[in-house]
Amino acid sequence: MSDGAGPSAAAQVAFLGKIERLLGEGQFVATYKYALLIALADLAVQHGGDDGAPLDLPVRTIAERFIELYWRQCAPYGGAVADGEYGILLQNTGRQASIIGVVASLRRTYGTLSRAASSPEWRRAVSETARLIQTMPLWRLQVLRSETLDFLYEKSPKRGHIRLKDGVAANLRRFHGMIVRLAQAEWLHFIQSLPANAGVLGPISDLGQFLFGAERAALMKVAGPLAEAQSGLCLYCQRAVHAGEVDHFVPWSRYPRDLAHNLVLAHAKCNRDKSDLLAAEIHLERWMRRNEDHGQAIGEAGTRSNLIVDLPATIGVARWAYAHGQSLQARTWLHGDALEALSGRWSALLGT
Ligand SMILES: [Zn+2]
Repeated sequence: MSDGAGPSAAAQVAFLGKIERLLGEGQFVATYKYALLIALADLAVQHGGDDGAPLDLPVRTIAERFIELYWRQCAPYGGAVADGEYGILLQNTGRQASIIGVVASLRRTYGTLSRAASSPEWRRAVSETARLIQTMPLWRLQVLRSETLDFLYEKSPKRGHIRLKDGVAANLRRFHGMIVRLAQAEWLHFIQSLPANAGVLGPISDLGQFLFGAERAALMKVAGPLAEAQSGLCLYCQRAVHAGEVDHFVPWSRYPRDLAHNLVLAHAKCNRDKSDLLAAEIHLERWMRRNEDHGQAIGEAGTRSNLIVDLPATIGVARWAYAHGQSLQARTWLHGDALEALSGRWSALLGT
C-alpha cells in the first residue's frame, strides 16, 4: 500500500469539513443517513485502499451492513414502549422507519443475526433494504438545504453499485474512528430529540451503550472456545486464565464490530491495561497464529453466538488498524504500563 499517493493534507481537511457540514446542515427525518455514513466508513476499511483510488461498493453489501447496524437497535428498550407494535425506539420523526419493520421481523423469527443471515428470508430482506437505501438516504445524504455536496459517491457503471469518488475511501479509512463517533453522536442525539422516545428514555441512561455498544453477554459465550484455542492461556501474558474476559484484539473503540476472530481471551487486568491501545507486534504474531490454527473452531463458535465470521475481513481490519497506527507513530501495548513503537514487522505478519 502506497503512502504518498493518497489525498493531500489540504484535501483531507476539506473532506472532514464536508462531512461535518453533511451532519450539521443536512435535514434528517430518520436515522438512515447516519447508518449510511457509518456503513460506508466500515466498508472502506474492509474493501478499500489508502492510495486514493475510487471504490465500487455493491448496494446489497451496504444493505447487509445496515441490517447489522439496526439489529441491536431493534431490541425493546427498557420497560415502556415507544412504538406500539414492537416496543422499539422510534427512528423517524413520523411513522417508524421502514427498515425497523424489516429488521424487527427477522429478529422476531430468527433471534440471532447469524441465524437470520443463513435463513431463506435473508435475500429478500437484503433486497428490500437495498431498495430502501436506493430511494431514501443514498441520494439525499449529500443534499443540504440549499446546496448539493456530492463529494462522497456517484452512480457506478457497475450495475447495483455505487462508486466512492477519488480519495474518499482513503479519507474514510484515515478518519474512520472520528467519522463513526461523530455519526453515532448525532444519531444518539436524534433519537433523544424525538418526543415519542422521551417517556422511554427517562430512567435508563446508557442509551449510547444500548445503540452502539458491544453485547458483552454474547461475547462471553465464546469464552470457552477461545480458551480451548489458546490452551487456557491469556493471549497477552501467556499465563493461565480462569475467570478471564473476552477482549477485542483490534480495540472496539477503533472498529466497533463484533468480528469473531478479533476476539481473544485475556485476564481482566491485561484487558484493562491494554485498554484502547493496539497490541504490540509480539501479540499480533500470536493472534495470527491462533487464527491460523483454530480459525475454523472460532468461526463456528462465533456463528453460534451471533457474531460476524469473516477471517479475511478481520485480517483486513487489523492491517488497516496497524497501518493507521504506524502513520500516527502510535505506541502499542506490551504489558502493564510498557509500550513500544511499531517496528514494521506487522506488515509481514499481516501479509501486506
Ligand atoms: Zn494476561
